[in-house]
Amino acid sequence: AGFASALLGGHRAAGSKSDVRERTLIAVKPDGVQRRLVGQIIQRFEQRGFKLVGLKMLQVSDDLLSQHYCELRTKPFYPRLQEYMTSGPLLSCVEYLIVWEGHKVVQASRTMVGHTNPLEAQAGTIRGDFSFHISRNVVHASDSLEGAQREIQLWFQKKELLNWDCFDQTLTCE
Ligand code: ADP
Repeated sequence: AGFASALLGGHRAAGSKSDVRERTLIAVKPDGVQRRLVGQIIQRFEQRGFKLVGLKMLQVSDDLLSQHYCELRTKPFYPRLQEYMTSGPLLSCVEYLIVWEGHKVVQASRTMVGHTNPLEAQAGTIRGDFSFHISRNVVHASDSLEGAQREIQLWFQKKELLNWDCFDQTLTCE
């Protein structure tokens, strides 16, 4: 196990099993899907070492979107956000919802995704590399542990999330 953890990096330092079971919700928004960025976005999280435990594509309804963004419903930009995220008459709005698991995955994902406004997002972040406008910023990432739990529950049924052992984590986190 010593050799494996030296090879695979940090997971032993991550501590207890519950620590590495943290989960977050990432959504590839309709502009990301239209621009065929889904593969590259998934790749970044895999590369970082996170484990994919849930994945679906869907067309989001106004109702579910307003539950997801319950804190933003009264903001002046909400109608624009709704138009961006939900299926219009052309049925062109598809998103991918992805649940990732791993040590401090909520915080790490926010860093990987970058600032809400792509103009302020650093190069190397998803928004900094792939977008330039706040209302087309490619991805969503839960902003807290509580937010992640709420959003995952909203979008996924329990049976749609898989508990599976990843070789590196099984080796190094016992
Ligand atoms: P984040 O997605 O970084 O967590 P928020 O939760 O504040 O940011 O906002 C949700 C989404 O609403 C943003 O990702 C963006 O697509 C959109 N949005 C936020 N602020 C604005 C704004 N001022 N104008 C247009 N769209 C906005």
